[in-house]
Amino acid sequence: MLYMIKFVDVNKYYDAQTEALKNVNLEIPDGEFVSIIGQSGAGKSTFLKLIIGEIVPDSGEIWVNDVRVNALKPKVIPYLRRRIGTIFQDYKLLYNRTVYDNVALALKASGVKKEFIKEKVDASLARVGLADKAARFPKELSGGELQRVSIARALVHDPIIIVADEPTGNLDRINTYDIINLLLEINSHGTTVILATHDQEVVDKIRKRVITIVKGDVLRDQKNGSYLV
Ligand code: ADP
Repeated sequence: MLYMIKFVDVNKYYDAQTEALKNVNLEIPDGEFVSIIGQSGAGKSTFLKLIIGEIVPDSGEIWVNDVRVNALKPKVIPYLRRRIGTIFQDYKLLYNRTVYDNVALALKASGVKKEFIKEKVDASLARVGLADKAARFPKELSGGELQRVSIARALVHDPIIIVADEPTGNLDRINTYDIINLLLEINSHGTTVILATHDQEVVDKIRKRVITIVKGDVLRDQKNGSYLV
C-alpha cells in the first residue's frame, strides 16, 4: 500500500446549491501528519466525514487503507471506524460516566475481555498524561483535559488514522499547543493524523503538510507549513 488515504475525483453536494467538495484528488501517505485548513463552511468536516464513511460522495472514489470506503456495505463501516480514531471540538464525552468508562466503553461494546480492557485504558490514559484522573467525571476536568480524554478514547483501539475536527476550537493557546504536541507525538509513532482547523497560527507552527480548502476547492497543497497570504 502506497497511500493510507486517497481521493479520486471526489464530489460532494448536500443539495443543488451546496457543493461542499469539488473534484478533490489527493493522496495521503501512511504515517503523514496533514492539516486541512479553511474557513468555516469550506468543506473540512465534509472531507473528514467522507474518510470515516459517515457520508458518501456523489461521485468519485475514496480509499482508506486499501479499502474503497464508498463501496462498503453499511454493516462493514463500524470495522473501518474502529481503525480510525475521531476527535471533535466538543469532545463528545459522556458526562455521567467516569474518565475510565469514557475510554473503556467502545472496547466493552466490541466484546473485549475485562483484564485486557483495563490494560488498554490504563495505557491510553497514561499516554495522554491522565493516569491519575481515571475515576474523575468530565465536569471535574479542564477543557484541555477533556480533549485528552477524547484522545485516549481514540488511542484505545490502536488506530491507524486519527481524524481530528477542530480539536482545539474550545481551548486557549496553552492547551491548544499541548493538544497539538500530543497529536504530533502520536504521529511520531506512525499513526497518520488528519487535523482540520481554521487556525492558521497552529498550522504554521506545526510545519507539516497543509491542504487549504476554499469553498470546496483544494486551493493549495503544501509540504511544509501554510502559505501566508
Ligand atoms: P467546514 O467543516 O469547513 O466548516 P463543512 O464541511 O461542515 O465545512 O461544510 C461545507 C458546506 O456544506 C457548507 O456550506 C455547509 O453549510 C454545507 N453543509 C455541511 N453539512 C451539511 C448538511 N448536512 N446539509 C446541508 N449542507 C451542509
